[in-house]
Amino acid sequence: MADQVLVAPAPRDPSQKYWDPAAQTLDPERRRGIQDQRVRELIRRVFDAPALFFARKLAAAGIKHAEDVRGLDDLARIPLTVKQELRDAEAAHPPIGDHRFTALKECVRIGQSTGTTGTPSTVIWTRKDLFIELESAARGFWRRGHRPGMVATHAHPAYLYGGGAIVSTAYEYFGLVNLWVPPPETDALAELGIRAWMRFKPDLPFRGFSMGRYLEVCQKLGLDPVKDVGLNLKSSGSSHGDRPPLLTAGIDCYTFLGDVCSEASAVGGGAHLNEEWAVVQSVDPETGRDVPDGEWGNLVVTTLDRDNGLLRFDLEEACAIDRRRCPCGDTTVRGFWGGRFKDLLSAQGKRFQVSQVEQALRTIEAVCKPSLEWVVVRPKDPMSALQVRVELADGDRNAVAAACTGAIKTKLGLDATVEIVARETLPRSGYKATRVVDR
Ligand SMILES: [Zn+2]
Repeated sequence: MADQVLVAPAPRDPSQKYWDPAAQTLDPERRRGIQDQRVRELIRRVFDAPALFFARKLAAAGIKHAEDVRGLDDLARIPLTVKQELRDAEAAHPPIGDHRFTALKECVRIGQSTGTTGTPSTVIWTRKDLFIELESAARGFWRRGHRPGMVATHAHPAYLYGGGAIVSTAYEYFGLVNLWVPPPETDALAELGIRAWMRFKPDLPFRGFSMGRYLEVCQKLGLDPVKDVGLNLKSSGSSHGDRPPLLTAGIDCYTFLGDVCSEASAVGGGAHLNEEWAVVQSVDPETGRDVPDGEWGNLVVTTLDRDNGLLRFDLEEACAIDRRRCPCGDTTVRGFWGGRFKDLLSAQGKRFQVSQVEQALRTIEAVCKPSLEWVVVRPKDPMSALQVRVELADGDRNAVAAACTGAIKTKLGLDATVEIVARETLPRSGYKATRVVDR
């Protein structure tokens, strides 16, 4: 009978502290036992499915039988896998590669990464894989104070890019009213979103990569982004210092990895990780072993309990783990994100993140109105000045260029040449803008 099909999670008391108190406050020893058991299950399925790509990885480590891996402690023996290897597997064994644990026909959704850094890679979800994403997302929404019935909005890309569909489904599963507006790739698309927000007045206003685009188009339309449109321009109010919380792991892997904890600031901040569905490690890629707690290493994820797993997937991003108990009562470990290695630039003998240049420019008010638009040229000559282009609406170009140069020197210790260009000179994006150009 159709009316007996379960279509929604059980209702919660809105005043309860956690979405899933039993899981989130579980004794860490018991959770560890669950992880050990799920790691054994994943290894057994590598042999049984079989997932040939991962079977070769195990063979390379001398692991011939499922019983050779007893749990978490044995993960360090298993070689890491990077994204390019999965792309190569998809090319050699089209269309989904030989690293899968299920056939495509057992899945209900296909997605692709954006492919901004090369060939897109494919993601497939069974119903169970989706369920794990949705439950993981729900923990984060609840912790942030979202409650069913609130109107929430986002502007993620759609169609083949899997992220937009995942966010929409997660909102709907949780019980939010999902107001999905198009990414603001053009002014007309931005206006469509702005008008929808003015009509439906989201309880959870838009936040995201393309905020600058909306501010720019609000100005063109003569609208005040706060008073007329209801946008919230205050920063996230993060109390996490210099280390952002590790929230997501990218569409290739496991989307809702953790959720930010406001009470964790007492013990250094971070995001609680959904540990029964993922082993998150901060790994020294030279040795394959975990780096000491609190230190930066490679973000390595082993998914647990999913139909389509990933074993020791190295996202080539920096992460740090903090295992100290959090005063909020959630007993999971906390993670921090240190940026993608491919966003790491090197100039004048220093390594730095692209985002650090943006942070420096944000201190110069003149270039932030109505939105900060800028690019940096990928440094070729290691000792030359960093070349940065920044848009300016109006003001003294020489003075503003000097202020930007000074801010980059102060924040990053780098010499820079800042070229001021007119508004709308640089390309716009409806999602993640390209900030590093080759010339
Ligand atoms: Zn906490």
